[in-house]
This record gives sequence, structure tokens and C-alpha cells, in this order.
Amino acid sequence: MAENRQEACEDGAKIKQMTLPPTSSVRPRGLRFALLALPVIALASYSGWIVWLGRESAPPSRCYGTAVSGRLMHGRRLPYSGVNFRAYSLLGYLSGRTFMHGSIRDAIISSYARVARERPELRYIYGESSWPWGGSIWPHRTHANGTAVDFFVPLRTRAGEVAEMPVSVLNKLGYEIAFDNTGRAGDLQIDFEAMALHLVALDQAAREHGLKIRRVIFDDNLQRHLSATEAGAKLSRRLPFLGKAWIRHDQHYHVDFSVACS
Ligand SMILES: [Zn+2]
Repeated sequence: MAENRQEACEDGAKIKQMTLPPTSSVRPRGLRFALLALPVIALASYSGWIVWLGRESAPPSRCYGTAVSGRLMHGRRLPYSGVNFRAYSLLGYLSGRTFMHGSIRDAIISSYARVARERPELRYIYGESSWPWGGSIWPHRTHANGTAVDFFVPLRTRAGEVAEMPVSVLNKLGYEIAFDNTGRAGDLQIDFEAMALHLVALDQAAREHGLKIRRVIFDDNLQRHLSATEAGAKLSRRLPFLGKAWIRHDQHYHVDFSVACS
């Protein structure tokens, strides 16, 4: 009897060994591949769609409503990088957080080209603007219709070398970096002269493209350092600055453009 039960058990084990391998080794491998491939395919499809939305062959841009409550159609975006500028984050760029009205995009490209002719050594980083379709874009209160653009402050090291904002997901893509009232953060120092040169060039380029800068938001404690530079002395007369905003604008300056929106 005992021998029979043993045989029965062994037989059972043999049956399991013969039937288990196809289900235990093939299915998980296929499942693992699918789990890895699906997000990659989804991300590639989404990025492709974003590229298509910003295509140059699309009709001219149209904005609707206000920067607080509005939307955007046929928005454009700046190249990811140029001779003296780049986007704040590849992730932010690919996900479509840098769309704006086409006229504004063209004015910004001209502004960077103007600065590059005068001061080729300077480097600039632009931040977020709008979704391709506009609307609410967390955590911004505005940026809803492609007429508001953020620019990160140009930087130098304390030794005076041109530096770039250390943007990463750990500092909320740069928006969490904080500067003291003299414009310092660790070894980094805001290059107020470079910022003023960009704003002067942006104002000139905007006018050439039939636009106006409606408002600049930059920390009120840091504005005096901007005004103290040679280029910045002209700015307070040319551009309307807002002092205190709902959050401190120390790592970036926010620019609202006047565009005829429906
Ligand atoms: Zn902003």
C-alpha cells in the first residue's frame, strides 16, 4: 500500500514536471516583454503626437480667452536647443509643456539671436509655457492660452564662469531652486546683466513681431539688482514689472505678451 501511494505521488510529480514548464517559463517572459514594451510604445506615440501638434505646416496659431482661463490652437514651440539657449528639461519638452503662440515663439528666437550677436558667450534656458491645446497647466495659475512664457535666470559661478541651472526632477524641474535676496544659491549667482540684456532684446524683438510685453514678473527683492546693471537701468521705463506674485519668482522670470486673442 505504502509503495503504491509513493508511486502515485511520484507519478503525480512527474505529470506536474511535464505540464508546468510551458506555462511557467513562456508566459511570464511574454508578460515581462509586454510590460516593458507598452509604456515605451505609449510614450513614443504620445511624443510623436506632440511633435505633430507643433508642426510648422499647421495653420497659424490662435489664442482664446485669457492667460488665466483660455486655450490655444496650433501652438508652436521653440527648438529644444539653439546656439545660446535650450529648454529647461527634455521631459518637459517631450511632454508638450513648452507650447506658445507662434508669433511669440518667433520673437523669442529673434531675441536669442540678438543677444548671441552682442554677447555670444552667454547661455539661456527657457522654462514652461503652455500645453499644445492650452488650458490649465499645473502648478501655474496662468499659462492657459500660449501668451505667457517662463525664462530661467541666467547664471554664473561665484568665480564668474557662465553656468546653467541644475534642473532635475528632484528640484521640480528647476522651479524649486531658491535664491537669496542678493541672487545667490550655493556657488551660483544670478547674472543680472545677462538677464537684462535678454529682456531688452526680447522687448525689441516683440515690437518687431507686432507684439508687446504686457508684464514681467520677477521677485521684488531682486529687481533692484537688475535695475543696477547698465542694460537693466532702461528696463523699468520700458517694461511693466510686477513685484510680489502668488509665489516667489526668483529662479525664473515670467513674461506675459500682449497678443490679439479671440
Ligand atoms: Zn510663469
